[in-house]
Amino acid sequence: AAERYSSIRDKPAITLDGTEIRLSMNAGLMADLPSLESSGAQGVGLFRTELQFLVRNKMPRRGELVELYKRVLNAADGQRVNFRTLDIGSDKVLPYMKPQDEPNPAMGWRAIRLGLDKPGVMRMQLQAFIRACEGRPLTVMFPFVAQFDEYIQAREIFEKVLENEARLGHILPERVEIGAMLETPSLAFAPEQFFEMCDFISVGGNDLKQFFFAADRENERVRKRYDTLNVSFLSFLEGIVERCVASGTPISFCGEDAGRPVEALCFAAMGFRALSMRPASIGPVKNLLRRVDLAEAKSVIDAARASGAQSVRPAVVEWISNL
Ligand code: PEP
Ligand code: MG
Repeated sequence: AAERYSSIRDKPAITLDGTEIRLSMNAGLMADLPSLESSGAQGVGLFRTELQFLVRNKMPRRGELVELYKRVLNAADGQRVNFRTLDIGSDKVLPYMKPQDEPNPAMGWRAIRLGLDKPGVMRMQLQAFIRACEGRPLTVMFPFVAQFDEYIQAREIFEKVLENEARLGHILPERVEIGAMLETPSLAFAPEQFFEMCDFISVGGNDLKQFFFAADRENERVRKRYDTLNVSFLSFLEGIVERCVASGTPISFCGEDAGRPVEALCFAAMGFRALSMRPASIGPVKNLLRRVDLAEAKSVIDAARASGAQSVRPAVVEWISNL
């Protein structure tokens, strides 16, 4: 399958009407790094740092993290890498952390909630990112931000760490961008000031969809009832893009759905210009994007929405099959 798309590997994902979509990859382990080269990915849109913590039996040391993150940045060779701070919680339990007994771990003490309440590990991670950069630009994003004030607090912790690194004589990144993952519906309705302050937003569609439909992403039976191309969800995503465009906040989508060609096309039609996905999905997604007129795709979607359909999928799939 990889050979099938090798002819377009180095070509841009540009639609027939000239819209370019940035396709980057999701990663988390050193084994993913060769895919940066082979897939044609434009950098790493989501680096899931918790995977490094989950494969160990004790807390990694800062020095080890610095070395790991350096290897990631070297492999990316100047392309952007969005390092996501630890997304652990009582479902992704670190063997060396005290387990929490929570009835609903997915809605529990996880990700940035844990990071803000116990900032020691987050600080160590932020130091490791800064040191690994050795002056190169740094992009960090915080998972599971549900309200403005969590983003502000995380940003303050970062600023303090940065000042301290400067005092210790470390070279600072030449540029820093601090983003938030939009994974809870609440953040879509945050005050304007949040969007203005946030350097970029990355939509974590796996969690966002689970909370939008109140359907556990791990529970096949309920998850499958709700199509990602359901008109309610698609219109919700469109509204998020509109808010970001209005405030000039760059936005990308990094949930698994971005790696499905029909979904990726619909996200592009809703205004997304950056998608991050499994490396193996980049070829198929790019292949479809290069064959379509985005304005036409948008009108097919709009007609399906106006018709009262539950999902735009049948109309879009039908349109694609006639291309
Ligand atoms: C998401 O929720 O869409 C996401 C990218 O994060 P994760 O799958 O790691 O929760
Ligand atoms: Mg998530």
